[in-house]
Amino acid sequence: MPFSRKEYDAIVIGSGPNGLSAAITMAEARRSVLVIEGYETIGGGARSAELTLPGFVHDVCSSVYPMAVWSPFFRRLPLAQHGLEWVHPAAPLAHPLDDGSAVMLERSLEATAQNLGEDAGRYRGLMNPLTAAWPRIESSAQSPFSMPSHPFAAARFGLTVLRSASSVARHHFRGERARALLAGLAAHSVLPLERVPSAAFGLVLGIIAHTQGWPFARGGSQNISNALAGYLASLGGEIITSTPVESLEQLPRARAVLCDVTPRQLLRIAGSRLSAGFRRALDRYRYGPGVCKLDWALDRPIPWKAAECARAGTVHLGGTFAEIAASERDCWQGKHSERPFVLLSQPTLFDKTRSPAGKHTAWAYCHVPNGSAVDMTDAIEKQMERFAPGFRRLILKRSVRVAASLESYNPNLIGGDIGGGAADLRQFLLRPTRRLYRTSAKGIYLCSSSTPPGPGVHGLCGNLAARAALEDLF
Ligand SMILES: Cc1cc2nc3c(=O)[nH]c(=O)nc-3n(C[C@H](O)[C@H](O)[C@H](O)COP(=O)(O)OP(=O)(O)OC[C@H]3O[C@@H](n4cnc5c(N)ncnc54)[C@H](O)[C@@H]3O)c2cc1C
Repeated sequence: MPFSRKEYDAIVIGSGPNGLSAAITMAEARRSVLVIEGYETIGGGARSAELTLPGFVHDVCSSVYPMAVWSPFFRRLPLAQHGLEWVHPAAPLAHPLDDGSAVMLERSLEATAQNLGEDAGRYRGLMNPLTAAWPRIESSAQSPFSMPSHPFAAARFGLTVLRSASSVARHHFRGERARALLAGLAAHSVLPLERVPSAAFGLVLGIIAHTQGWPFARGGSQNISNALAGYLASLGGEIITSTPVESLEQLPRARAVLCDVTPRQLLRIAGSRLSAGFRRALDRYRYGPGVCKLDWALDRPIPWKAAECARAGTVHLGGTFAEIAASERDCWQGKHSERPFVLLSQPTLFDKTRSPAGKHTAWAYCHVPNGSAVDMTDAIEKQMERFAPGFRRLILKRSVRVAASLESYNPNLIGGDIGGGAADLRQFLLRPTRRLYRTSAKGIYLCSSSTPPGPGVHGLCGNLAARAALEDLF
C-alpha cells in the first residue's frame, strides 16, 4: 500500500465525521496521523453526490445537522475557514396533519408553544426548564463518564428525559398536535416509542431546535467532511482513500489505531488481537432496524397542503402519535409498515447552490427491519401524496437505496442500521461495551458512533476516543 511513512503515532481506519475528528484531535496534540478510508471519497455518513441528474446535489446519508451545530467539539474548530457554511431554514421542522394544518417546531420556544393549542402551557412547562438547564448539561458531553459539573441539574434533566416517548406524551400532553410532534422527534431514536430512552432523543432534538437550530451544510454535506479534512491537512494529517482495511496486519506501525467502524467489523479486522471475553462482548452488541432511503430530483418545490411546511428544512410525515408509534413498532417486529413514518428534508428551498435554477431536490427515508431488501418507494410516495397531493407528478428522477444495499456502500451501515447499533437503554449509556472507546488490546480503540454519545454528525465519539488514546499512550 502507498503509505508515505513506515510509522505513525496514530492511524485512523475510516474517514466518517468521527474518524476525521479522532485524527484532528491527534494532530492537534502534534501527533503524526494517517486516515485510511475504504471508499473512493472521504466522509462516511457526511457525503453528497449527484445521485439523480447532473446538477442535482443530494446528501447520500445525513442531511440535517442539529448535533453538528450543538457539538462542543465542532464549535471550537475553524471549519468556516475551511469552507463550511451552515444554512438555517426559517423553521427547523414541520409536522403536517390530515386536517391540512401543520405543527411547526420553530426556533422560538414560545412560537412553537403557541401553535400547540391546548398544550401550549404544558409545552412551555416541559421545555422551558430543559432548555434553561441545557448549557449546564451539554458541558458533560465533553467528558460523559466523569462527575457532571452540575450534578443536581444533570440528575433532574436525566429524570425528565430518560423515559419513553409514550410516557412523556401521556403525562405532559392532552392534544394530538403536541403528541404528534413529540412522536416524530422521538422516532429519530429508531426505538419503539414505548421504549426508554426514546423520549431523550426527541426532547434533546427539540431543545437544540430552540437553542442552536437544525441547519443544512451549504452546497451539501460533503462540505462538512471537506472542511474537517482541510483542517486536518493544515495540521499535517494525511488521508488516503480507496483502501479498505481487511486486517490490522496490513497497516504501517502505529502506537494507536483508532477504528471508525462498528463492533462487527472490529471483530473481523482486529479479532486475533482481542481477548476471548472482549470478542464475546462485541458479539453480543445489537444492531437496530435499517432504513430505505429515497432521493428525488423535482421539477418544482413540494406542493404541501399545509403551506407553512415550505418554511421548514425537515418535514415529518406520519400523522398522529399512534400512527407513528405503530410504524416504529412494525420494523422491530420484522414488518414493513404500509404507512411508514417518513423523515424528509428539502434543502434546495434554502440553498440554491444544489440544483439547477427553479428545480429542487428532496431526501427521505423510513425505518424498515434490519437487512430488508424491500423497496419502500410506493409506501413513502403515498405518504408524500397524502400531505402534498400532486408530488409524484413533479419527480424528474429518483434514486432508491434499500437497507440491504446501504452496507455495501458503507460497511458501518450494518443491515442498513444508520445509528451504528441500537440505542436502547443499555447501549445508549454503555456502547459498545463497558470499556467504551478502549478495547482489550493496548493501542486499539473504537471511535465510531458505536461509542458514546452515539449516532449523529458531531465528531464527539472520535474526539473522546482520541483523548482516551492520548491519555493512555502519549
Ligand atoms: C441515510 C442516513 C441518514 C442520516 N441522517 C442523519 C442526519 O440527517 N443528521 C445526522 O446528524 N446524522 C444522520 N445520519 C447518521 C450519521 O451519518 C452517522 O451517525 C455518522 O456519519 C457516524 O459517523 P462515523 O464517523 O461514526 O461513521 P461513518 O460516517 O459511517 O463513517 C465510517 C467510515 O469508515 C469507512 N470504513 C468502514 N470500514 C472500513 C474499513 N475496514 N477500512 C477502511 N474504511 C472503512 C467507511 O467507508 C466510512 O467512510 C444518517 C445516516 C444515514 C445512513
